[in-house]
Amino acid sequence: MANNKVTNAVNKLFAKIGDGFKRVPVPVVDIAEALAFRVHVLIPENIEEEYVSGIVMYDKHTIYVNENDSFERQRFTIAHEIGHIVLEHNVGKGKEHIDTRMKIHDPIESDIREIEANQFAAELIMPEDEVRDFWNDVKDIRRCAKYFACSFTAMESRLTNLRLIKKVVYEI
Ligand SMILES: [Zn+2]
Repeated sequence: MANNKVTNAVNKLFAKIGDGFKRVPVPVVDIAEALAFRVHVLIPENIEEEYVSGIVMYDKHTIYVNENDSFERQRFTIAHEIGHIVLEHNVGKGKEHIDTRMKIHDPIESDIREIEANQFAAELIMPEDEVRDFWNDVKDIRRCAKYFACSFTAMESRLTNLRLIKKVVYEI
């Protein structure tokens, strides 16, 4: 179920920084920079860090993404961290937020902030109008994912939420 608060936040962000940022693939690093955040890669130095997808340091205005993650996953992570920033998830939560792979790709349902940041990321890198237009042209999830520079799974879930495809139900 889409959360309107998140959709409004994405629209507000594009209105603030300009629709030029809606060009596909959506330039997530430029958007972070438009919000005065720098993006750096995290080079894991131990096992714990290998499980980190991204970090947002609110006070240092810096986002880190794991350099071992795929390009598509890094883009989603950056968009997810932008979500935490724009939705002001830091209020009362300290100076930094660490996202493990689990937190982003398999969040528990009660973790509202992670769910919101994921919805934000999906709507940011796969803008609704652009998705509808491109989908109508190609009707191919893989080509769509390539066009928007996101993972197949992220694309599939966005198309499902926009009711452009039916959720695949595996029956036993
Ligand atoms: Zn997060």
